[in-house]
Amino acid sequence: MTGVIKIAYLYEDLMNTYGDSGDVKILSYLLKQRGYETQVDDVSIDTPKFNAQDYDFLFFGGGQDFEQTVVAKDLLRHSQTIADYIEAGKPMLAICGGYQLLGDYYETSEGTTIKGLGILPLHTVFKADARMIGDTEFETEWGTVKAFENHSGRTYFDDNVKLKPLGKMITGYGNNPEDGVEGMRYKGTIGSYAHGPLLKNVNLAAAIADQIISNHQARLATVQA
Ligand code: GLN
Repeated sequence: MTGVIKIAYLYEDLMNTYGDSGDVKILSYLLKQRGYETQVDDVSIDTPKFNAQDYDFLFFGGGQDFEQTVVAKDLLRHSQTIADYIEAGKPMLAICGGYQLLGDYYETSEGTTIKGLGILPLHTVFKADARMIGDTEFETEWGTVKAFENHSGRTYFDDNVKLKPLGKMITGYGNNPEDGVEGMRYKGTIGSYAHGPLLKNVNLAAAIADQIISNHQARLATVQA
């Protein structure tokens, strides 16, 4: 039995800048090619508390500062279930604003500090003088990735042993103008500033699709046991 692959899209209605929902569409397409149907559930402001362990993949897209402020207030009710999911090494992809909210805090353009989920040891600071915008290119374990970035938040790791970058910059800024790296990897979780969507880069998309299938099979085995 293959079952249906369940994807939770966190705040789909609020966190979807520059075509980030394309990441979920590409994954659904690849999973279909591999013989799996997918169900995408929107976990948002009006939806009940969700259990991340019922899902095979979590996706969190990018958002503008205003939307991030709204989302951050609601998000904290899900912090434990998302933390447990991430610690269990299950696959998750968080882009830009979503990536920022997995960390400790985000200091916004308004000078206010949004509390993040605090799951990953990283923080983000808004710098008005130089928005990081344009095409990006970076080298990853899955080859060269080409994408687009548009953010003022600069992200810094607070633990360089626990967190690893997703890639090394060739063109563009990535996490911040100083470190020369893009995104983050921790266990099965990937964070990235790359829009475009990111998963038009097929090697990376295929690797995530395979991880989702393994996680799905493991989840089904526990449900059936
Ligand atoms: N508002 C955040 C920033 O400017 C994130 C932007 C985004 O998700 N595209 O850094």
